[in-house]
Amino acid sequence: MGRLKTTQSEKLFRAAKNVIPGGVNSPVRAFRSVGGTPLFIAKAKGATVTDVDGNVFIDYVSSWGPMILGHAHPKVVAAIRRAAGKGTSYGAPTEGEVALASLIRKAFPSMEKVRLVSSGTEAAMSAIRLARGFTGRDKIVKFEGCYHGHADAMLVKAGSGALTFGQPDSPGVPKDLARHTLTAAFNDDASVRRLFERNKGQIAAVIVEPIPGNMGVVLPAPGFLDALRKMTKQERALLIFDEVISGFRVAFGGAQELFGIDPDLTILGKIIGGGLPVGAFGGRGDVMDALSPVGPVYQAGTLSGNPLAVTAGIACLNELAGKGTYKKLGEKADYLAEGLHGIFEASGIPTWTNRVGSMWTTFFQKGPVVDYATAKRSDTGAYAKYFHGLLDRRIYIAPSQFEAGFVSLAHTRRDLDRTIAATREVLLEVSG
Ligand SMILES: *Cc1c(COP(=O)(O)O)cnc(C)c1O
Repeated sequence: MGRLKTTQSEKLFRAAKNVIPGGVNSPVRAFRSVGGTPLFIAKAKGATVTDVDGNVFIDYVSSWGPMILGHAHPKVVAAIRRAAGKGTSYGAPTEGEVALASLIRKAFPSMEKVRLVSSGTEAAMSAIRLARGFTGRDKIVKFEGCYHGHADAMLVKAGSGALTFGQPDSPGVPKDLARHTLTAAFNDDASVRRLFERNKGQIAAVIVEPIPGNMGVVLPAPGFLDALRKMTKQERALLIFDEVISGFRVAFGGAQELFGIDPDLTILGKIIGGGLPVGAFGGRGDVMDALSPVGPVYQAGTLSGNPLAVTAGIACLNELAGKGTYKKLGEKADYLAEGLHGIFEASGIPTWTNRVGSMWTTFFQKGPVVDYATAKRSDTGAYAKYFHGLLDRRIYIAPSQFEAGFVSLAHTRRDLDRTIAATREVLLEVSG
């Protein structure tokens, strides 16, 4: 194996920085929080990605979640090939859109009607507009550390002033807009109750990742999501589950199937496109019918329901719908988690792992990690060492502490064993 050579990636990164801000089209890709040069990927297959220098890595980034079947799955690739030959966009309705929407509704019964878009960001942005239009209210509640794409209203995080008015987390978000986004602490339903009390009749929706994956994986405390469901009903606000990661990941029917809670609206993305750009939002029929052309809330998209993307999504979901898929995925994830747990314990390095099925994060701290404030206590320097140690051993995990790892159906026992062995070596190196 030998030392990792990344000459070609370095060369491309220098060229990229001349024409693309920071050399990347999405910030986490730049390796800023772990240091070093981002890998430029040339190809991927099954559980592996290959970079432009020819290094082959076992991949747990999984394109940040979509590649649950593994890369270049033969059925997905064949479906895309077939679709491409028939033209790639018509700007008119197709049979595939009906099929994908029906598949989604079957898996997520709370999504009585579904609209397809091209990204999770677009889906979240549209769902928020719909919630505001339907309720006639402007304010929304989100949780610190939850990510719902980069639309203006969602780029509000708030630090210590979490219970007062929101503050733009990003320059470019007008203050006038940000003040309509209120933030609460995840797993703290009292913080949500206070917001409802102080903003009587003004809150359109509470939006939440039912299993957050964007501050690293965090688990909802027993009763927390139920409390949100009750409170939003009482206050006539909508409950929006952002299941862009958890949808079709933690169960076929996502976190809402796992916890038995029906939100009013659900946001999907990632897996439902089978690796192509797709997002979706849907929910109660009466709410969804407020959308144009039936209702007054405008939303549209030139490439929405794109035939190529929809075909890939259908192929992916059909494969996932097969018998025993999630059992198999769960067994792989259990095997890896148990192997890693023993090694972390033995290393003496303080770590805390949160996991739901095939998505997990190991935080470099003693834990527990239950929200944004506790996640932030992690030793990101130790994480960076762990990351580079694994990368040297051809294992690719997220280049940030505050992201999830994903096991796919393509990971073999051998891949998992190699990951466990590599972790043992790295931790010895780090602690020694
Ligand atoms: C990735 C993600 C989004 C945004 O989706 P994009 O397709 O990247 O725009 C929204 N919400 C959650 C929970 C996500 O993980």
